[in-house]
Amino acid sequence: MSLVAGVIRRLDEKVVNRIAAGEVIQRPANAIKEMIENCLDAKSTSIQVTVKEGGLKLIQIQDNGTGIRKEDLDIVCERFTTSKLQSFEDLACISTYGFRGEALASISHVAHVTVTTKTAEAKCAYRASYSDGKLKAPPKPCAGNQGTQITVEDLFYNVATRRKALKNPSEEYGKILEVVGRYSIHNSGISFSVKKQGETVPDVRTLPNATVVDNIRSIFGNAVSRELIEVGCDDPVLAFKMKGYISNANYSVKKCVLLLFINHRLVESTALKKAVESVYAAYLPKNTHPFLYLSLEIAPQNVDVNVHPTKHEVHFLHEDSILERVQQHIESRLLGANSSRTYFTQTLLPGVTGPVTEGPKSAAGASAPTAGTSDKVYAHQMVRTDSREQKLDAFLQPVSRPSARQPPALSPEGQPAARASHTDEEMEEQLPERPESAAQGPRDGLPPEAGGHRKRPREDSDVEMQEELTAACCPRRRVVKLTSVLTLQEEINEKGHEALQDMLRDHSFVGCVTPQWALAQYQTKLYLLNTTKLSEELFYQILIYDFANFGVLRLSEPAPLYDLAMLALDHPESGWTEEDGPKEGLAEYIVEFLKKKAEMLADYFSLEIDEEGNLTGLPLLIDNYVPPLEGLPMFILRLATEVNWDEEKECFQSLSKECALFYSLRKQYVLAESTLTGQEREECESPSVSWKWTVEHVLYKAFRSHLLPPQHFSEDGSVLQLANLPDLYKVFERC
Ligand code: ADP
Ligand code: MG
Repeated sequence: MSLVAGVIRRLDEKVVNRIAAGEVIQRPANAIKEMIENCLDAKSTSIQVTVKEGGLKLIQIQDNGTGIRKEDLDIVCERFTTSKLQSFEDLACISTYGFRGEALASISHVAHVTVTTKTAEAKCAYRASYSDGKLKAPPKPCAGNQGTQITVEDLFYNVATRRKALKNPSEEYGKILEVVGRYSIHNSGISFSVKKQGETVPDVRTLPNATVVDNIRSIFGNAVSRELIEVGCDDPVLAFKMKGYISNANYSVKKCVLLLFINHRLVESTALKKAVESVYAAYLPKNTHPFLYLSLEIAPQNVDVNVHPTKHEVHFLHEDSILERVQQHIESRLLGANSSRTYFTQTLLPGVTGPVTEGPKSAAGASAPTAGTSDKVYAHQMVRTDSREQKLDAFLQPVSRPSARQPPALSPEGQPAARASHTDEEMEEQLPERPESAAQGPRDGLPPEAGGHRKRPREDSDVEMQEELTAACCPRRRVVKLTSVLTLQEEINEKGHEALQDMLRDHSFVGCVTPQWALAQYQTKLYLLNTTKLSEELFYQILIYDFANFGVLRLSEPAPLYDLAMLALDHPESGWTEEDGPKEGLAEYIVEFLKKKAEMLADYFSLEIDEEGNLTGLPLLIDNYVPPLEGLPMFILRLATEVNWDEEKECFQSLSKECALFYSLRKQYVLAESTLTGQEREECESPSVSWKWTVEHVLYKAFRSHLLPPQHFSEDGSVLQLANLPDLYKVFERC
């Protein structure tokens, strides 16, 4: 028995190259993509493609770029010859498309390639033909303009299987139009054209001065181009930029169209496609999809460069974070699009101008129209909610506050002020009525002055404070005559936005989106309201309007100011650095400083500090509301550092601002809840004590009667109109 080893033969080099080429160039569109990238690398501003039989018979690409030097013509079609890359390290910072020197070589192994080219310096053009990567004969001088023309004939003439697989020229032509169309959108400013040989009218044509949207229009049509939103974000942390255009929620197609360029290369990313589609799922009808043109620039070292030419699917470093960022951005642009383009304009806010003022009457019949008095109420203006209706859970009084678990527990104390705690009977009596009965609205002004004299709280004050005994509703309300405070009140009045106030007064609360955002309906419109901003303003206004008339939230245990100041200084938000000196010294200073102000703070703000430098009480601004106490240390620190203690008016203003900031409902407030122990959480999850209950039945209730929203709320996004019922009807009509 003889074992004869099979002879290992070296494959014919031509065969190897042909196999390799077949991998690089799978169809005419691939070849064209590679050649277009070469034209762009050569700084062309005009690229014209002519094809015959879907590119299988002939592909001709003419550009007006730099051209190829005569001496390089010998080797352009050899593998691994390139003018763009010299070392492996260069791969990481490549900014041109080509870098492998493989495209032309591959094409020349499976087709007859002719290059005609002229550089700016050369006196004439040269023409050279290639076969299997080799120059067939020395380049011949000929006539020609600057730039390069590459002709590819009889693609796959020597690869029978491939030729058979591509027997449908019109399908191939479609792919070519797709590739060139996409590159022309991404390279707006450069003119592209694609036509069949012999035809005069190109199937793709873009002009040198066209914009991206012009080009999207000319390639994908008017229907999509007029529903585009521009996107753009720049994230230095993730080292990426994004630009592009995406369709808005009015537009949808059966199949998602995603033009994705990463570092200017047309690529595919299934992950990115999924990510953006999931954002749109919330906005588009089922089984329909968006159009997106996205151009991402990612630090080259983070991209898995398209090492293999057929590898269209890309991956990059920090992919998940980048995708998330892209999703967020797209979501925000979608949300901000459509009607919100006008949300920020003041005129669209309720009851300001035009037809909006026609106050729809409640279908319940009982409520009077809130704005305007137009008689006729159209069906689309009918509102079936009554803002005065109370929900059942409003009657479930909170038993304990989530924040009450924090060291200093608070209990409201009936002080002279009007708004100390109510008894249950009182509450019940008041509930069916307008909530403003709970107290005098700040904008209603102060009760008429009367009554006896009161000590001068500050020696230098030239304005008197008086104590008074008024009618039953407000026992002993002090009349404030301080010019500074009256001026601050006046300033609030001047900035007030009446239409917004109407909206807040008569809104129907829809629900909390997050601690920061809530939805409310007013007439036929849905609004997104920034609870944080509104509550901050509310507390500021109460502090100014009820100045010197607050009840006290007494701390169950006095809280040492020193400890609070130290806590704050330990927090990065304080911005403490070693240059500021030792924290202990600063904390001591803060205690001494605030102790000096204790009399004034207690008298005007019900902010009580005892002789030992402990905080014992905070102002009770509205019933059932305890400020988020985790903000207390920072509040104490800022009292000493951020308040202007020199000028009376500025002092009251900045002090009230700081206090309002501390009282406003913020995210942390809710986060603190999530750190509760099991049992505590159980208590808090009962509907009566959750932050949502507080937002709806304490804050928004107070907004109705105690808040005069300033003008800027309609412009800075604090109040956004999301939807308008009549407009929604129009959308449904279209369906
Ligand atoms: P790569 O683009 O990776 O360098 P190619 O095989 O695509 O490799 O091209 C080889 C070389 O031929 C390029 O580096 C470039 O110098 C030259 N070349 C190809 N096409 C053009 C063109 N349209 N204009 C100018 N030079 C070109
Ligand atoms: Mg190339």
